[in-house]
Amino acid sequence: MRAVLLHGAHDVRVDEVTKPQIVEDGDAIIKLAAACVCGSDLWAYRGIDPITTPISVGHEYCGVVQEVGPSVKNVKPGDFVVGSFFASDNTCEICRSGYQSSCLDRRPMGAENCQAEYLRVPLADGTLVATPTMPDPDLIPSLLAASDVLGTGWFAAKAAEVGPGKAVAVIGDGAVGLLAVLSAKLLGADRIIAMSRHESRQKLAREFGATDIVAERGDEGVARIKALTGGLGVHSALEAVGTQESMMQAIRATRQGGHVGYVGVSHDVSLPGLELFFSHVHLHGGPAPVRDYLPELIERIMKREINPGRVFDLELPFDDAAEAYRAMDERRAIKALLRF
Ligand SMILES: [Zn+2]
Repeated sequence: MRAVLLHGAHDVRVDEVTKPQIVEDGDAIIKLAAACVCGSDLWAYRGIDPITTPISVGHEYCGVVQEVGPSVKNVKPGDFVVGSFFASDNTCEICRSGYQSSCLDRRPMGAENCQAEYLRVPLADGTLVATPTMPDPDLIPSLLAASDVLGTGWFAAKAAEVGPGKAVAVIGDGAVGLLAVLSAKLLGADRIIAMSRHESRQKLAREFGATDIVAERGDEGVARIKALTGGLGVHSALEAVGTQESMMQAIRATRQGGHVGYVGVSHDVSLPGLELFFSHVHLHGGPAPVRDYLPELIERIMKREINPGRVFDLELPFDDAAEAYRAMDERRAIKALLRF
């Protein structure tokens, strides 16, 4: 089968590799409906760690079950399924408390190859959620978005306690940030301030429910948010970047007693203790427990209440994976979908 492999910084290739097989009793093999590139794949693409041997990339997936191991009960061949970037048993105490992405037996899906034609999913019973019927082809991008970027945006909003009557700021205009806007809208926020300086992303943010756009960054961005919220700052800041600047912007844009939901994978962020102490804000975030949200998100997509697949503004044949990475790296595309 074909799979995307990263051979070195900025060196993406589509190679022929061995098709995955059932290894553990709880595995499922799925034929992927499409593949996509995540913003977090770009860290490896840009060479944050040296690559000595070709590595698999990607961690988002949906498709049709081909085969299951002998202990799998919840999904069967022919089911259309969606999973998240950590496989989880969904039975341990941490899973049951709603933190499947910290499952005591979690398996990173990045270790399998999700940008490939077939995928092995361990802990299939706990990890995979089947759609009630075979989805129409035009729903595939949205279901693929549910696998990570939508679920992650949703967690940012939940972690920041977004709800009716609240003012929200979203820091980051990548796919997660834009879907955090959509999530804030679904959760009933009154005012949603999207921070973006890209016209096409601002437009999509407005379509997803943003009421205000702030193009300024850093201290200027914080000042603009305060000006829009009676000098107080927002109730909820959703951080979807993961840098020092974006994290401090989120904390400083939040009023006392407010909440920051941070889902941008943290890179060299260090928080000044004294400022944190006097900020009086709640911080909650991390890798999103997407598995917990999949049933609800899948239902909304299947009923066509939401269209998170709108974040895919570039669609390419699978063999053009290298161009998909280039386009995202250069910010020419928000998110790229690869069709087999
Ligand atoms: Zn678990």
